[in-house]
Amino acid sequence: MSYTKGLKCKECGERYPKEPIYVCETCFGPLEVEYDYDNIKKDLSKELILSREKNIWRYAELLPIDNEPTIGAQVGYTPLVKADNLGKALGHSNLYVKNDAVCFPTLSFKDRVVSVALSKSKEFGFDTVSCASTGNLANAVSSLASSGNLKSFIFIPYDLEESKVINSVIYGTNLVGIKGAYDDVNRLCSEIAGKYNWAFVNINMRPYYSEGSKSYAFEIMEQLGWKAPANIVVPMASGSLLTKVWKAIKEFELLGMIEPSNTKMYGAQATGCSPISTAFKNKWEIFKPVKPDTIAKSLAIGTPADGVYAMSVINESGGHAEDVSDQEIIDGIKLLAETEGIYTETAGGVTVAVTKKLIEQGKLPTDELTVISITGNGLKTQDAIIDSVKKPEVIEPNIDNFEELYNSL
Ligand SMILES: *Cc1c(COP(=O)(O)O)cnc(C)c1O
Ligand SMILES: [Zn+2]
Repeated sequence: MSYTKGLKCKECGERYPKEPIYVCETCFGPLEVEYDYDNIKKDLSKELILSREKNIWRYAELLPIDNEPTIGAQVGYTPLVKADNLGKALGHSNLYVKNDAVCFPTLSFKDRVVSVALSKSKEFGFDTVSCASTGNLANAVSSLASSGNLKSFIFIPYDLEESKVINSVIYGTNLVGIKGAYDDVNRLCSEIAGKYNWAFVNINMRPYYSEGSKSYAFEIMEQLGWKAPANIVVPMASGSLLTKVWKAIKEFELLGMIEPSNTKMYGAQATGCSPISTAFKNKWEIFKPVKPDTIAKSLAIGTPADGVYAMSVINESGGHAEDVSDQEIIDGIKLLAETEGIYTETAGGVTVAVTKKLIEQGKLPTDELTVISITGNGLKTQDAIIDSVKKPEVIEPNIDNFEELYNSL
């Protein structure tokens, strides 16, 4: 039973069949999956969702596959943590952290989108998958391709964090470093995609891939007891996650899973790559492409594919966008670790620091239920903070030395 009707252009509305395509032939707009909500409403209930395994596929009717999913049985259902300590530090009384730093198998929310993309790639009959990546996507594609018996070719900027590189090659993928920034990598991949019959998760599979992000928000709403938060802070690279969190909330409203909500969407970027937040703050209609220069490499997309859509979602919801310096990102990583015991990567530092800034500016209400989106793990971006953390005290192995140290602290 299929709950998807096909693909539809986000700009002109032209319809296309379910194929590995991503751009409208008429207007060059992006294609999006269209669902049969009437049938989903008949078949999907909270009880049915609750009866299923705790992974992303418990919401299968709202994800774009036609057969049984083949990839991602262990992906998703990460903790939603009531963050009272962080709230206290930030002057917020109703704060939650959705923690995809512990998403399996590769410790970022990219495991969600890739599970959907690779399950769909198998449906289409591809034997090789590929992607252009800022790091986390590369990790997820190489791991899930390996367990899913797919060949993979992965393209990254050559200067990524070492841990993100090792976390890809370890799974036996073909990893190619490109001398350029993410946008150069992406441009090359579009060319390769035209020549090789591969499933590029964020190019020809992008309409399907991006839907996987909705599972992050479905889980938040389920974990809150079937309601949407009043506010949610989301980090933005291409802007896709933010638009899909919004779509997920609207879908749960439409299906009667939650009451109508007024969730405000807050977008977070690093100042060193802030095309979306800068355009939003200046009330520009479109963003200006930038050359990234920030430690938040997982968010370093200078020409964000969903940037304009992210801006309009933030606007429509009544939220805001903001960006923070590299130093604020490091402070954000430390603050989350010291208050909640959660070690996030630079993207999570961006989210925490932007939350702090928005509270200080009075733009984020401090008593309404607010979720901040932690999307990746700090073990992958050690390089970014190695010079900003305390080194251990080293002493001889005897009690006198320890007492001397103890008394000096
Ligand atoms: C990819 C990524 C994001 C955001 O991605 P979008 O392109 O905006 O969907 C956020 N956090 C982390 C850790 C990521 O890897
Ligand atoms: Zn179109």
